[in-house]
Amino acid sequence: MPKKCAVLACCLCAMLLSACAPQANLPVLDTSRVGEEAKKQQELAVRDYMSKLDRMDRVGWALRSANLELCGDVVSYRLGMSYAVAGDFPKEYREALQGVLKVGDRVTVYQLAAGGPALAAGIQKGDVLLAVGGKPVANKKETKAAMDSALAKGTPVQLTLERAGERREMTVTPAKLCGYDIALKQNTMINAFADGKNITIYTGMMKFVQSDDELAAILGHELAHNNQGHIKAKQGNALLGALLLDLPVAILTGVNPNVGGRIGANAYSQEFEAEADYVGLYFTARAGYDISNVPDLWRRMAVENPGAITMGSTHPSTSARFVGLEAAAAEIENKRKAGQALIPETKSAQVAKSAPKVAETPQ
Ligand SMILES: [Zn+2]
Repeated sequence: MPKKCAVLACCLCAMLLSACAPQANLPVLDTSRVGEEAKKQQELAVRDYMSKLDRMDRVGWALRSANLELCGDVVSYRLGMSYAVAGDFPKEYREALQGVLKVGDRVTVYQLAAGGPALAAGIQKGDVLLAVGGKPVANKKETKAAMDSALAKGTPVQLTLERAGERREMTVTPAKLCGYDIALKQNTMINAFADGKNITIYTGMMKFVQSDDELAAILGHELAHNNQGHIKAKQGNALLGALLLDLPVAILTGVNPNVGGRIGANAYSQEFEAEADYVGLYFTARAGYDISNVPDLWRRMAVENPGAITMGSTHPSTSARFVGLEAAAAEIENKRKAGQALIPETKSAQVAKSAPKVAETPQ
């Protein structure tokens, strides 16, 4: 490039850069104030997460407890108590977590489920766990191992705790629940999924649901996926052993990143979704929640995601889900009025009902 042109290009570049740069005379920020504000916002985020966790645990506990008899032999014993050390949390949140939850280097109780035996026994958030079942515990790993072993039997668990510098002995009898734990994940997507063993709900879904009744319906749907064995069955239907670890049952969009296994895995997907809606509504009603407005949840889902109104791919359309849930809600209401047990209808029971009766022949 000739020298003259190079200078011109350089000038043009400088002019363009100065045209792109902000023109307003911004105030100079005090970096320590920015740091303080970051801490404040992290604390608000922790408090918000904990309030969602409280709600999730309360509703999840009621669902898992009320549907125990429908969960067969998939049961677990739980105290309704979560514990952690500061190192279990993301680094940037540790200070805020220590401030809000009082979780430091020792194993500390930071969450108690409403309805659970730990709360009823008087355990408090901030209690430090010193021993479980008489076995001293110094870290999270030891605590989990001692807790798992103590809970496996379902017998009362002896806990040694420290509160405000005082040592306390407490005995808590675990509750028997449907054996599917529920986790809350920080993610703005409106989603929840089941993986066959556990249930995960996103904070985005917690924000979307407008009542405990709606939250119970979402968790009931996921509980039904696990309890009806859908995940295992989907894996069996998938083709050529494609990787299936990424097969969450996305409740709204049905997003399935596993392209290889999609065709086979989807063979029964719509039916499974419809079944999870149906059985899940029974779970919700059995836990004492009002199911009359649950179909409306799908109208609101449709507004969020208009593409799902008529187009069902892995999941039924939102319109089909609304009508299906309305019919299920009517069926449950009729049973309630007739004083019948709230048990989902099965095809085998229908066949048995309609089978011709064979006359008994006296021998
Ligand atoms: Zn589903």
